Amino acid sequence: MSGTPDLIVKWGNEEYVIKDIFTDTTIAELKARIYEDTGVRPDRQRLLNLRLKGKIPDDEQTIGSVGLKPGVKLLLMGSREEDIAEASSPPENMGEVINDLDNDPEGEEIVVENAEIYLAKIHKRIQNYKINELNPLRENKKLLVLDIDYTLFDHRSVASSGYELMRPYLHEFLTRVYHHYDIVIWSATSMKWINEKMKLLGVTDNPDYKIAFHLDYLAMISVCTPKYGLVDVKPLGVIWGKYPAYSAKNTIMFDDIRRNFLMNPKSGLRIKPFRQAHVNRSKDRELLKLAEYLELVADVQDFQTLNHRKWEEYKGKKHRRRSHRPNDEFCG
Ligand code: MG
Repeated sequence: MSGTPDLIVKWGNEEYVIKDIFTDTTIAELKARIYEDTGVRPDRQRLLNLRLKGKIPDDEQTIGSVGLKPGVKLLLMGSREEDIAEASSPPENMGEVINDLDNDPEGEEIVVENAEIYLAKIHKRIQNYKINELNPLRENKKLLVLDIDYTLFDHRSVASSGYELMRPYLHEFLTRVYHHYDIVIWSATSMKWINEKMKLLGVTDNPDYKIAFHLDYLAMISVCTPKYGLVDVKPLGVIWGKYPAYSAKNTIMFDDIRRNFLMNPKSGLRIKPFRQAHVNRSKDRELLKLAEYLELVADVQDFQTLNHRKWEEYKGKKHRRRSHRPNDEFCG
């Protein structure tokens, strides 16, 4: 009986160290230990990267038999009972409540944007952060930067596969926008998990579109806001510094948390968070609507002339204009 010093379980943005796991510890025992720490019941736990020859191992199997190495990180999906109870009667606009910066006046954001000290931090990221290009960037394309959690994927609900938690129409969305935009994924987690999640969702090897590169939390910076204290944000300046073809003129970023684009408020579009996948899977059409918006604005010379807070109205305006055009096929 040899020891596997610590296993790490990652659940949402938290990491839990599960100590004293041995090669003869069963998966059932491991799940009981995870329950103690997270409150997620064993029957609701899905350890996504725990696989034996591609299959989910039985609970009776031991840690040794599935070949878990010391210090390995397991990705947990699952919800606590209280969260599930809440999901069956979701409060209206739950996302809005959580998004504390949503109603902020633009003024405060601009103050942060221009602060010298943050420009210095961004400069440091431009110099030191290494981007691993997955696919070459194309000429004359605009740039779309996407968050993962709650934007493309409900990382907190229970499911037997990552696919069930995918936001509806994800692949259709990416396929459509890829015609006009190069696509970057930026998530406030480590590169390992970004790669893992993109693989789980079938994004990485999708034949219909390509992702240019992934950015992780190391490309983010902390900024101090008068109202909210120290917050981590995703400054687009890091990308713009590395790829001068891109700027505020041709870049748009989607995130469910508005503060992530505090440094570039005009380039950010705050997407409605995709939570409680099982309740919302059948009705969430955000990505379809947003694909349409991105197509409509794809030819706009300067994105700074757009107001992404009103993206739904922009679409509406175009539709009205089209349907009210005088019918000139009849004459005389
Ligand atoms: Mg998010």
